[in-house]
Amino acid sequence: MEKLEVLRKVFGYDTFREGQEQIVDAILHGQDVLGIMPTGAGKSICYQLPALMLEGITIVVSPLISLMIDQVKALNEAGIHAAYINSALTETQITKALYNAMCGRYKIVYVAPERLETDRFLEFVMNVDIAMITVDEAHCISQWGQDFRPSYLKIVNLIKRFPKRPIVSAFTATATQTVKDDILCILGLNNPKVLVTGFDRQNLYFEVRKTKHKDEEILEYLAKHEGESGIIYCATRKNVDNVYLMLKKNGIAATRYHAGLDNEMRKNNQEDFIYDRALVIVATNAFGMGIDKSNVRFVLHYNMPQCIENYYQEAGRAGRDGEPAECILFYSAQDVMINEFLIGNKGQNTEFTQEELEVIKENDIRRLNKMRFYCATKECLREYMLNYFGEYTYRHDCGNCGNCTGEFEEKNVTDICVDIIECIRESGQRYGMNVIIGILRGSNTAKLKSYGVSRYKSFGKRSKMSEAMLKSVMEELLLKEYLTETADIYRIIKLDKTSQDIIDGSTELVCKWSEKKEEVRETQAKVKKSGAAAELTPKQFAVFGELKKLRLTIAREENMPPYIIFSDKTLVDMCIKLPFTKTEMLAVNGVGENKYERYGERFIQCIVDCTDAVR
Ligand code: ADP
Ligand code: ZN
Repeated sequence: MEKLEVLRKVFGYDTFREGQEQIVDAILHGQDVLGIMPTGAGKSICYQLPALMLEGITIVVSPLISLMIDQVKALNEAGIHAAYINSALTETQITKALYNAMCGRYKIVYVAPERLETDRFLEFVMNVDIAMITVDEAHCISQWGQDFRPSYLKIVNLIKRFPKRPIVSAFTATATQTVKDDILCILGLNNPKVLVTGFDRQNLYFEVRKTKHKDEEILEYLAKHEGESGIIYCATRKNVDNVYLMLKKNGIAATRYHAGLDNEMRKNNQEDFIYDRALVIVATNAFGMGIDKSNVRFVLHYNMPQCIENYYQEAGRAGRDGEPAECILFYSAQDVMINEFLIGNKGQNTEFTQEELEVIKENDIRRLNKMRFYCATKECLREYMLNYFGEYTYRHDCGNCGNCTGEFEEKNVTDICVDIIECIRESGQRYGMNVIIGILRGSNTAKLKSYGVSRYKSFGKRSKMSEAMLKSVMEELLLKEYLTETADIYRIIKLDKTSQDIIDGSTELVCKWSEKKEEVRETQAKVKKSGAAAELTPKQFAVFGELKKLRLTIAREENMPPYIIFSDKTLVDMCIKLPFTKTEMLAVNGVGENKYERYGERFIQCIVDCTDAVR
C-alpha cells in the first residue's frame, strides 16, 4: 500500500496535517528525524504510519505507562497489532509479549525506558529485525528540559549496540533551543530531518484572570459550561482535594487525580473522566500525559504552573479535536510563593549532586519568572508563548486571547517608570519588588522601618498610587527588560543598561490599563460553547445527540473510552454528511476500513432511524 492509502484505510484520514507528510517521507527514505510539534498536532501518525510500511519492527520508547496503554489500545482498535512492555505487566506476560513479537506478530512495540537494558529485552532486539527506534517525549533526555529522566540516557546505549543502526526518530511537544540541541546531540541523530511545526493552536482561547475569589469564578465558569468536559489543574494535592470537595458540595460531578491517591483509585477516577462518567477532573500535573481525550473543552488552572512548558502542555490537552476550546489561568500572587516552595523542595532525594541541584534550581526560577510574566503581560498571550518557544509571529493580535479581545485603556506611564528606576538606584539595587513598592508608597510597616528606607527621596513619592498599578508598571519594565531580576527566590531588582534610556527621556513606555469588560467575555464564551457541535443546525444537533448515545453504548459494551471509538469531530462530520452507504461512511473524517467493519453499520442504522430517511 502506498502511504496515502494507509492513512485512509488504516487511520481513516483523508489528508496529512501540517508536517506529517514530510516526516513520514523522511523516515521512509531511511532518514533520522526530530519532530517538534505541539500537543495534539498528530505526532503519533508520524511514526506509526511509516512503522507499518517499513520492513521490520518499530520500538517506541515512551515514558508513561498510561500513554502506552492508550496508544496500543487505539492501534489495536485500528487493526494494527501492537504491544507494550512495562511494569504494568507481570514477568510472565512480558515473556509472552516478547515471544509474540519475536514471531513477528507485532509491528510496533512500546517500551518503558527502564526496560531497555534488561537482558530479556536486549535478547529480543538483537534477534529480530528492528526498522526504527522512536523516542517519544524526547525532551526527557535533556537536563535542561522541565522533565529530565535519567533512564532516557539508556536509549543511547541501546542504539549503539545494533550492528546495523535502525532509523531513529524523536518527537516532543516542547523544546526550547537548548533542549533541541541536547536531543540532537545526545541521541546522536544522523543528518536528521528536523521539523518544527507551528506551535500555534488556533482553536485554543487563552486568558489570565487575576482574582482572589477563585472558587466563585470556577463555579461560575462551570455553570456556564455545563455538559462540557474539562480539566482543572492545581499546584498541590491539598489544593486538588479542596477544589474537588468544593465542586462536590456544589453538586458538580467531578473526580480527582493526584499522586497521593492509591493506584486503584487513580485508575478509576481517570477512567471516569475518559469515559465521560465524570465531566470534570481536578488534578495535579501528575495527570494528563498520555491522555488524548479529544473532547476536552476547557483546561482551567487554579494555580499558575511552574513554567510555560508545563502550561502549554497542560493547556494543550484542550481541544485536541481541533474545535474551539478555552484555557484559562486563574492567577493570584500567592501562586508564585507556592511554586517557589515547590522548586525549593525539589529533588531532595535524587541522584543529583548539590551542584547540579543548584543549577537545576536556577533554571527553574528563571522559567518560573517567564511564567509570571505571562500572567502579567497585557500583550497577546499566544504570541508571548510562541516567542518563548522561539517562534516569532510579528502579528501582535491573535483575536483569540483575553488580551487581544479585552478592552484596555492605554496610558503613558513614563513618569512612573522614572520614579521606580530612581528608587531602585537610590536604595542600592538590593530589594525585591514589594520593598520598592513599599518605599514609593511610603508604607509604614515594621519591616520597611527596619531597613531604614524613609531617608530616601523616593520615600512616599507615589503615596496615592495603588499597589496594583505600581506592580503592573514594574512588571512591564521587567517584561520589556528595562529592569532585570536575580534568578533566585529573592528576585532582587537590578537596573539594566537600558534603564537610563527612560530617565533620559529617549524612551517612552505605554502601559495597557483597566479591567476587561465583563459582557465581552460572556458573549464570547457563549459562541464558543459547544465545541465541535457549535456549527450544527438544530436538526443536525439532534442527530449528534443520538450518535453520542450510540457511541456511549458501544463504549460500555467494549469497555473502551468513547473517543477511541469515534471522536466528536467524526460524529459531527457524520451529522453533516449523513452517510447511508459504506462508501459514504468511509468518506467521513476519521472512519477507516477497520472502524467501519466494527461500527459502521450500527452508526448508519442510527442515522437512518433518526433522520426518517429524508436528507
Ligand atoms: P500528539 O501526540 O501530537 O499530541 P496525537 O498523535 O495524539 O497528537 O493526535 C491528536 C489527534 O489528532 C488524534 O485524535 C488523532 O487521531 C488526530 N489526527 C492525527 N493526524 C490526523 C490527520 N492527518 N487528520 C485528522 N486527524 C488527525
Ligand atoms: Zn492574542
